[in-house]
Amino acid sequence: MNETFQSAFDSIDFDHWREISLESSAADVERALRGGSRGLDRFAALLSPAAAERLEDLARLAHHITVQRFGRVVQLYAPLYVSNECVDTCTYCGFSREHQIERVTLTPEQVESEAQVLLDEGFRHLLLVSGEHPRIVSTGYLAEVVQRLRPRFASIGIEVAPQTEEGYRRLIEAGVDSLTVYQETYDRRLYATYHLGGRKKNFDWRLATPERAARAGMKRIGIGSLLGLADWRRDGLATFFHAQWLQKHCWRSQIQVSVPRLQEALQAIDAPVRVKDVEVVQLVCALRICLPDLGIVLSTREDAAFRDGLLPLGITQMSAGSRTEPGGYEAPNTDAEQFEVADRRTPAEVARRLNELGYEAVWKDWEATLHGAA
Ligand code: SF4
Repeated sequence: MNETFQSAFDSIDFDHWREISLESSAADVERALRGGSRGLDRFAALLSPAAAERLEDLARLAHHITVQRFGRVVQLYAPLYVSNECVDTCTYCGFSREHQIERVTLTPEQVESEAQVLLDEGFRHLLLVSGEHPRIVSTGYLAEVVQRLRPRFASIGIEVAPQTEEGYRRLIEAGVDSLTVYQETYDRRLYATYHLGGRKKNFDWRLATPERAARAGMKRIGIGSLLGLADWRRDGLATFFHAQWLQKHCWRSQIQVSVPRLQEALQAIDAPVRVKDVEVVQLVCALRICLPDLGIVLSTREDAAFRDGLLPLGITQMSAGSRTEPGGYEAPNTDAEQFEVADRRTPAEVARRLNELGYEAVWKDWEATLHGAA
C-alpha cells in the first residue's frame, strides 16, 4: 500500500465527473449496461439522468449479478449503542456536543446485558456504535467490551471514533473483525460546513481511516456517504471511487458500502439535500453493476416497504430491530435516539418477510453461507 487514497482522491475532479454524468447520453448508458470499462466513466453513465430512464434495466442487471454472486441470502446484524458521549460538533447529529441530552455510557456489564437481548433475538453479528469521546469511550474501554462479548458472537464490528493503526491492532486482538466509517460527504468544502468542532473536523484523518484499519488487519471495512448532505451523484461517484480503490489496494479486507440517508435527529438540521427513493435505487444498482463483489449494507433508517424493494437489487446485509440510543434494547427511550428509525419491525418480522420474498435471513456464519452459494 504505497499510494495513499488521499493522493488518488485529490487527483480526481469529482465536479467534472458529475458533469460527465449529467451529460451522459442514452448511447453511453446502453454501453455501460453492456459492460465495458471498470472505471468512473461507466459508473458516471449509470448514475446519469439518462440512466434514470432505464431504471428497470439497471434493476434487472443488478438483481441478476446479486443472485449470481451472493445467492438469495441476507445477513442480519444489530447495532448496539454503547455511548452517546461526543466531543464533536456535527450539525446533522442528535449526539453533537452542544445538545442538551442525557449523556450515557454503558458499563461493560450493561453492554453485556444489552447484548443478551440481541442474542435472545437470534443475532450473532453485532455492531458496537458510539459517539466520539476518546477519554470516555477509549480504546481500552472498547477492547474490554469486545473481549467480554467475543465468545458469544460470530462477528463484532465497530462504528466508533477513528483510531490509530495501533488502536485498530489492539481492537482486532480483542476480537473486532469489522469497521464502519462513513466519510459523510466527500465534498471538502461542504464537509467543513457540517463538521464544526472536534477531531471529525479533520477531513483527511477520516479519509485515511479505512487504510489504517486495513493495515492493522481489519477483515471487513464499510464506507459510505450520508445521503442528504451534498449532491448525491458527486458523493456517489466518490464513494464508488473509494470502494474500488480499497478493493484494489486493501485486498485482504472485504469492502462494503452503505447508503444511509439523513433522517430526522433531535435538535439537528433537516437534510439540506433531498435524495429521492429512485435516486437511492439508482445508486445501489450502479454500485452492484460496477462492483459485483461489493457488500452493500442497508440500515433501519429506511422504512420497511422501501427496504423490501431495495433488497433484490444488491443488498447483502441489513440491520433489524435497531435501537439508536444507549441502553435502548432493555429500556427503549425514543427521546434519546441518534436518529429516528423508520423500519420498526422486530427482527423476527424482518426475517419472516425476507423468507416471503424468497430470501434466507442469515444470523451467523455469513461467509460459510456465501461460499455455499458460490
Ligand atoms: S456524527 Fe458522530 S462524531 Fe458527529 S456528533 Fe454525531 S456521534 Fe458525534
